[in-house]
Amino acid sequence: MVDPEGRSVVLVVEDEESYQDALNVGLTLEGFVVVAATTIGEARKLLEKTKPDLILLDVMLPDGSGIDFCREIYDTSAAPVIMVSARASEVDIVLGLEIGATDYVTKPYRLRELVARMRAVLRRPAEVGSSDEIIFGPFRINFGRRSFNRGEQVIELSRKEFELLSLLATNLGNVVTREVCLDTVWWGLELSDTRTLDTHIKRLRQKIELDPANPRHLITIRGVGYRLDA
Ligand code: CA
Repeated sequence: MVDPEGRSVVLVVEDEESYQDALNVGLTLEGFVVVAATTIGEARKLLEKTKPDLILLDVMLPDGSGIDFCREIYDTSAAPVIMVSARASEVDIVLGLEIGATDYVTKPYRLRELVARMRAVLRRPAEVGSSDEIIFGPFRINFGRRSFNRGEQVIELSRKEFELLSLLATNLGNVVTREVCLDTVWWGLELSDTRTLDTHIKRLRQKIELDPANPRHLITIRGVGYRLDA
């Protein structure tokens, strides 16, 4: 969401009062619209309501771990996340786990350093509106350009991966049978040779799912086919 004056909206999830106050004042002076939450519960509501352009997320919060919440954000929003950690040891955790964070800062940090990182993360190409595309969750598939994005990040797909994902995206929320997948994407291929389809589903999961072993978007309907969920 960009406010009428074109300022970026940043959701600050921080329970330490001194940081909350400093960020509120400092980031507003830097031209951001600050939406503040002190708990994950509050942040979850504000995320939905305000559709922020960027999220600043503390690791240690009163009602849970910012790391777990970052995973949740990744699955539902394309907004970049900057993790804020209090200890250097937490940085290792943030970096070691694939949680979808775009960047991190360690407390204590300088406002100037934080703002520089925020601006770097927000620098993105202008959105091109098109009816030739389907948006699901944080993803956008454009048929005319044959492109696939997560937020502004381009995800490279092979030709068959793109065709398979397009087929599932045009049936978003509905099951597509294995037979239809094979017929549409690999016309002429023997139906018994289903390993090709399995391999492509596996590769797609590795490219779009945060945890490919527990997919949230590309769902297997056992014995029937696949369903793409937003
Ligand atoms: Ca904290």
